Amino acid sequence: MGGRRPGGSGAGTWHNWARTQSAHPRRVARPRDLGELVREVSAATAAGTRLRAVGAGHSFTGAAVTDGVQVHLDALAGFERVVTRTDGSARVTVGAGMRLRALNAGLAARGLALRNLGDIDAQSIAGAISTGTHGTGARLGGLATQVTACRLVTAAGDVVEVSPTQDPDLFELARLGLGTAGVLAAVTLDVVPAFRLLAREEPMALQDVLDDLDTFVDENDHFEFFWFPHADGALIKRNNRVADDTERPLSPLRHLVDDEVLSNGVFAALNRLAAARPGVVPRINALACRALTARTYTGSSSDVFVSPRRVRFREMEYAVPREHVADVVREVGAWLRSTGEPVPFPGEVRFAAADDLWLSTAHDRATGYVAVHQYHRMPHRRYFDAVERIVAQVDGRPHWGKLHGLDHERLAELYPHLPRANRVRARVDPTGTFRNAYVDHVLGPAG
Ligand SMILES: Cc1cc2nc3c(=O)[nH]c(=O)nc-3n(C[C@H](O)[C@H](O)[C@H](O)COP(=O)(O)OP(=O)(O)OC[C@H]3O[C@@H](n4cnc5c(N)ncnc54)[C@H](O)[C@@H]3O)c2cc1C
Repeated sequence: MGGRRPGGSGAGTWHNWARTQSAHPRRVARPRDLGELVREVSAATAAGTRLRAVGAGHSFTGAAVTDGVQVHLDALAGFERVVTRTDGSARVTVGAGMRLRALNAGLAARGLALRNLGDIDAQSIAGAISTGTHGTGARLGGLATQVTACRLVTAAGDVVEVSPTQDPDLFELARLGLGTAGVLAAVTLDVVPAFRLLAREEPMALQDVLDDLDTFVDENDHFEFFWFPHADGALIKRNNRVADDTERPLSPLRHLVDDEVLSNGVFAALNRLAAARPGVVPRINALACRALTARTYTGSSSDVFVSPRRVRFREMEYAVPREHVADVVREVGAWLRSTGEPVPFPGEVRFAAADDLWLSTAHDRATGYVAVHQYHRMPHRRYFDAVERIVAQVDGRPHWGKLHGLDHERLAELYPHLPRANRVRARVDPTGTFRNAYVDHVLGPAG
């Protein structure tokens, strides 16, 4: 995870996980309970000081950056309430600082699970929902769609509970609003009975994946694929729910070889080689494609969704209308081939259902997520700029937590409810306590 603990620098310099952002907060606060959090926020507003909560520091953008008060909510991270329904699903209220790893473990201990997840579990639940973190599944939404209520501390120091029936406008901004509604203290989630997944991973020609994309996406609960720049190969991942008693675990040795050695150890070495000799990248990627093998296993949903990510990278991810995904990937591939831009990191493509959250990347449209990555020791600007030009043609919306170059004027064209979100900000944060440079850039002025 790198030198300093991400998001937990104490005094001095704070860095995010990707080392794309740093900050020198005037004060680092670690409130032990809601009362202390209220005092921190009230004091900051009274003094005219900016304040931001930070989770695990896993956003690539400056979403969590502040030179004012940086608040860590690791102490507000317990299970508060579990209300189970007769069908086995439940509403679960947890402290907003809870990490997804602890959330998954606590849910599993209660026979429960999140409906869907991204590919890591290091994030805090508050940080994850605030930037629209998502996994894959054409019939499923991102994590924020699973939120049914939030408790937050507003700039005035008021503790408010919001939900679709209690101040629904503020609820919208609280569940996905880059921390601009206030500091989340607790989050209530709609969760499902624990489930197991059958995971099938298979190398395939990229062309075949793109030609049959709709079938793959529609016929699987969770479909995604990785593709390798300069090579013709892809790795598809099909995860589907199976009955509880289906047991087909991955052998510990295979797990070690695939996830620890190939995905992290050998992959790290290949990336270092690519950084030293960019000219060999196409050959490295061709080799990586040939080394891919098929594997099938079952596991608990969170074990299957989450993979270790130990090689540091930069990422940009755009949500595009689902029907344009194949063309976008083809165009990005063509740009890479025509320029020879050395990119050893695979691209990733995922899917989500349309939702109605104001600032969701999947707002009002069935969505494909096209993510591009670059090894952290290699330049990413030219590649990301080119991809950004390509997705602009289909009104791509950037992930709020991943690198991009859009400003609030362009984002207002992409998010019809952005002006409404800004009116809510003006109401609950008239002093601008929760502003920072990134928020100013992407949301614009409140009001
Ligand atoms: C290796 C890696 C893998 C990733 N995988 C995925 C993935 O699969 N899918 C995906 O969609 N994204 C993914 N991301 C992006 C990541 O999920 C988001 O950037 C997420 O916001 C990070 O959560 P965090 O806890 O680190 O929040 P931070 O980055 O610390 O903060 C994010 C935002 O939340 C706000 N915030 C944090 N806590 C609170 C609070 N208590 N109240 C109010 N606001 C708060 C911060 O101020 C900031 O605006 C990945 C990132 C990395 C580095």
